[in-house]
Amino acid sequence: MKIWQASVSRLLTFSCVDGPGNRLVLFLQGCNFHCPTCHNPHTIGRCDHCGECVPGCPATALSWQDGRVVWNDALCTHCDHCLAVCPRSASPKTRTMTVADVIDVLRRYALLLTGITVSGGEATTQLPFVLALFAAIKAAPDLAHLTCLVDSNGYLPEEGWQKLLPVCDGVMVDLKGWQEPVHQALTGRSGERVRHAIEFLARHHRLAELRLLHIPGRSDFEHHLPELVAWLQQLGPVPLRLNGFRQHGVRGEAANWLAATRSELEQLESSIRNLGWRGSITLPAL
Ligand code: SF4
Ligand code: SF4
Repeated sequence: MKIWQASVSRLLTFSCVDGPGNRLVLFLQGCNFHCPTCHNPHTIGRCDHCGECVPGCPATALSWQDGRVVWNDALCTHCDHCLAVCPRSASPKTRTMTVADVIDVLRRYALLLTGITVSGGEATTQLPFVLALFAAIKAAPDLAHLTCLVDSNGYLPEEGWQKLLPVCDGVMVDLKGWQEPVHQALTGRSGERVRHAIEFLARHHRLAELRLLHIPGRSDFEHHLPELVAWLQQLGPVPLRLNGFRQHGVRGEAANWLAATRSELEQLESSIRNLGWRGSITLPAL
């Protein structure tokens, strides 16, 4: 039997902000978008063991072994110097976990959990692992009460979502722009495929949450509201979340972009309501 494994940037045993209830969250390394607004840019790339981060580690937690960079968790002080200097938006602190490794951790906390959320980076860039993990959870009688959710940028093609349907209870998807040039500028990728994924997931009752990111002066939802709301109506009663851009963790030019205000998000919410949207809308505490 094949042993599926994933490159994991972080595992959180409890979270109440990554889906409903108490959730174990697995952050997988690697993303196929290049969003200037990313709050965790060190999860985008994959380490190629170039070694550039090794000499600057103040705790000597990084070393060379057989042409690979090795991270010593016990020595690491989590100063994150290595993340700041990495030219590939990667991290030497990722670890490889098998499906069995994750199941072991889940079993330790299962009685206290509502489910698991696989996030990233972009979780679906390691789809075979996610499929194997969710299938193993669904097949285990002591874990069968756990819901299996994916937090995604929505870029996976339809064939990939088809494979996920039997083992996944829901997907939370971000949409970062309405018109194609805006989506391209904010992610580096086409928004058409993301909207197609959102429609597919809604049709199959797997769209757990749709998130629109408002970036003052950059995102364009407020300029296309009638079109946007007509599209939302076709999706059915999906939970909608309006997120506002914040600079926390962001690198590069976007670190100087304006943060969204509460009143801007409330204005967007009220405009969407005025156009007839009756579904739920959640706003973050900004
Ligand atoms: S984390 Fe970045 S800098 Fe360090 S070895 Fe990997 S690719 Fe090079
Ligand atoms: S975070 Fe990186 S640079 Fe800092 S101590 Fe740990 S391995 Fe070294």
